[in-house]
Amino acid sequence: MNKTIKDYDLTGKKVLIRCDFNVPIINGEIIDETRIDASLKTIRYAIDRQAKVILMSHLGRIKEEGDKQDNSLLSISIKLSEKLDQKVLFIPQTRGLKLETAIKKMKNGEIILMENTRFEDLNNEAESKNDLELSKYWANLADIYINDAFGSIHRAHASTYGVPSLLPNGIGFLIEKELKALSYFANPERPFIIILGGAKIKDKIGIIDKLLPKADLILIGGGMSYTFLKAKGYEIGTSLLDKESLPYVKRLIKEYNDKIVLPIDLNVTVEFSNTTINRIVSIENIDPKEMGMDIGPNTIEQFKQILNTAKSVFWNGPLGVYEFSKYEIGTKKILEVIANINAHVVLGGGDIVAAANKFDYKDKVTHACTGGGATLEYLEGKKLPGIEIIEKIES
Ligand code: AMP
Repeated sequence: MNKTIKDYDLTGKKVLIRCDFNVPIINGEIIDETRIDASLKTIRYAIDRQAKVILMSHLGRIKEEGDKQDNSLLSISIKLSEKLDQKVLFIPQTRGLKLETAIKKMKNGEIILMENTRFEDLNNEAESKNDLELSKYWANLADIYINDAFGSIHRAHASTYGVPSLLPNGIGFLIEKELKALSYFANPERPFIIILGGAKIKDKIGIIDKLLPKADLILIGGGMSYTFLKAKGYEIGTSLLDKESLPYVKRLIKEYNDKIVLPIDLNVTVEFSNTTINRIVSIENIDPKEMGMDIGPNTIEQFKQILNTAKSVFWNGPLGVYEFSKYEIGTKKILEVIANINAHVVLGGGDIVAAANKFDYKDKVTHACTGGGATLEYLEGKKLPGIEIIEKIES
């Protein structure tokens, strides 16, 4: 069993909590607050016990100086202050005198949020490549490290791996809860059906051959499905495609033909927009100028029939561009289906949970996990560095 925050006396200690504040932000506005809400229990526990709480998180990907503006954690500190009803002091630095002085001045029960850990990626990818010097620097700021960033436990970054390797450590309440919910899938009631969609094809496609032996069926939709349709020889127009994965996908289709369920019709248009004219088309009739934006009504019906037989469901990635009203239907209808079946249903990942929130189904499933990649790697049976590095105690 992993050590948790409850295994430490926190009073007067500087407790560095790695949260996952990687929330969708459009034009400076936080679109979905699920991950912020999910962090509150651990933060409240620490301040109630008079710890000096230092929060850290990544947000988005930082590849160049220009990425910084849209990915500052300033707006998160404002939202957190509101939710905790307590000032969260934002320090616009990942290291430096300001940060060090602010920490020195902290009183028990106070909270500081430092700037996006990935700003350090402009410094030879120090965060993402787990730079030792950066890990030492961050570890020196605190007495105890707590990881509550479930969405990042599959990454061996400085903030998730390097720092806890140098400090007494434990997990927070969120990670504890998520791991418990996912442990169900070690031996799920059958039929066990996985639904896979979304747009991060490169990140996720390689996992499918590890999931296929575990599931009874995998329903594939969204941006993930077109590489499969292309591999089967269909015209997919300008839909999302992972060309490099075609040979691998062809092998999967051959090996697991009876387990992979693909869309039979699509909602297509000619531009990635909610305003261009769309049409429903069977997969045999996609025009080279068209792109798939959602699954079509016959696919929805087919997925529904299958899901009505399920006893366990795991779903990662929306089945269409649910942010656009014209292409929300597939995701919304299938959420409605799984909300009404008698099965253990877990949603895994930021976007499918955001969609469930948007369409009001989040409370109608067994559990909504905050991390997509992390849940998939957990199901795959991979060792997760962010958990591996946490101290163990006898259970
Ligand atoms: P992911 O992080 O992999 O779960 O991807 C989530 C994103 O996938 C959402 O922003 C959706 O808009 C997007 N998405 C779903 N279906 C499609 C599609 N057919 N084409 C493009 N993007 C899609």
